[in-house]
Amino acid sequence: MGTPYSNSPLLPDSESHFDLLRVSVVGRFLRWRHSRTALQIPVLLVAAAMILHGLLGPTLAPKNLATVLTWIHFRGVLVLVLLCAGNFFCLACPFMLVRNAARRLFRPRFDWPIWLRNKWLSVALFVAILFTYELFDLWSSPWWTASLALAYFAAVLVIDGLFKHASFCKFICPIGQFNFIASTLSPLEVQVRDPAVCDRCATKDCIRGRREVPANAELARSTNSTSANAPGLVILQRGCELALYLPRKVGNMDCTFCLDCVHACPHENIGVSSRLPASELMIDPIRSGIGYFSQRKDIAALAIVFCFGALLNAFGMVSPVYALEAWLARLLSVNHEAPLLAIIFAVFLIVAPGILLAAAAWLTQVLSGTKSRLVPLAVRYSYALVPLGFGMWLAHYSFHFLTGILTIVPVTQSALASVGVHYFGVPQWTWTGLPVRMVRPIELGFLLLGFVGSLLVAHHLSEEDSALNPMRAFLPWAAVSLLLVTASVWLMFQPMEMRAMLMLMGG
Ligand code: SF4
Ligand code: SF4
Repeated sequence: MGTPYSNSPLLPDSESHFDLLRVSVVGRFLRWRHSRTALQIPVLLVAAAMILHGLLGPTLAPKNLATVLTWIHFRGVLVLVLLCAGNFFCLACPFMLVRNAARRLFRPRFDWPIWLRNKWLSVALFVAILFTYELFDLWSSPWWTASLALAYFAAVLVIDGLFKHASFCKFICPIGQFNFIASTLSPLEVQVRDPAVCDRCATKDCIRGRREVPANAELARSTNSTSANAPGLVILQRGCELALYLPRKVGNMDCTFCLDCVHACPHENIGVSSRLPASELMIDPIRSGIGYFSQRKDIAALAIVFCFGALLNAFGMVSPVYALEAWLARLLSVNHEAPLLAIIFAVFLIVAPGILLAAAAWLTQVLSGTKSRLVPLAVRYSYALVPLGFGMWLAHYSFHFLTGILTIVPVTQSALASVGVHYFGVPQWTWTGLPVRMVRPIELGFLLLGFVGSLLVAHHLSEEDSALNPMRAFLPWAAVSLLLVTASVWLMFQPMEMRAMLMLMGG
């Protein structure tokens, strides 16, 4: 019996998959038990340097490692790696390195509350970070950027110090949720190699972890030593902390690419395999650790915030947002930015998606004659917006990354000079990156790629949901995608606000 996903007609059979773990040097490194730690240590060192420079270094954002690395390089590299490979940021996550070190001292005692085992809290935190970013102009404040990173470390330690498994990653981390939903578009996925091997597998170590009875644990020997909960058992390698049982795992949702399952599986039956990007959005099998996408309103909300939040984040850096804020301030006689931003956020993240999705779902009902009700239809098709949302994030973040890619050189030179290391010479503040005219076509390409992806997902969903009139079910969602991509292209050609330009000048 194979997994539903491995039998999907959207995928080639598992034998023909490219498997990253079978590539000579890279595969050997990733299969090494300490590969994750080896990746996390340099990222942690960079994060420490960034935090120190943010707290103690220059207050001008373009000259500080915290702001330049976080808002130009980290975001750009993150989305490009998600596009070209998978969720490798979570693999190298420095927060988890600190957490694992702390867990050697403190064992978490509690299970994550059942009523919080969903994405609602993390979606709210995702929105809160977007709001904080706009309200406090995080891109321009090294101190606030470093403080945010420190707060993140503290939150990980508190949550995962109290609660078992990967509660922070699965239910709280806004960066993780961004990575999870974006990685549904990635070409690589952690998958079982041969479902038949799993059928014969007696231990299921990929989920339970690999355990052994210590030599002096007579009590453990006399009890059921095959039970995962038997007293005296020592964990040699933990299984999936995200509760994804590999033979029933479908897609990249909730997968941190931590490779714990790879190290735990005694049959070397797990690979990092190629697949058709977005294919997991087109199907609706039951997914281990998740259930059915079509029944998860919280994940649908994440998809909607992911898409409309991308538009909102881009809107926040162009001139019209200030004209809108000024108009609202006059209209409401309000002086503070917070209530004005709250209105703009409510329009972008609640009112606009509510109207568009309700209208598209209603038109789908009317045009296709489907018996589905409005809310299930809106939930089901909201996943079709994910490729377009990712296209918008890619266009936005790659713009900053490519036009500011070289700024890391003078900022690093300056940071080293400030601690007495002059070996790398005088900071070259004229180094910035590619000219805007070269980056525009790339941005446009990402937007179009996302648009085409959304059309494909919507079309596939309409074929599954409405055998009679798939084209009629598809058209309303195609119209929503067209509207959103048109708005994105319009935003792209708006004059950028001074603050965005400051980030790019590098000096
Ligand atoms: S431990 Fe390996 S072989 Fe066994 S069920 Fe998990 S992935 Fe399959
Ligand atoms: S252990 Fe779980 S989260 Fe980690 S790579 Fe395997 S499936 Fe993904």
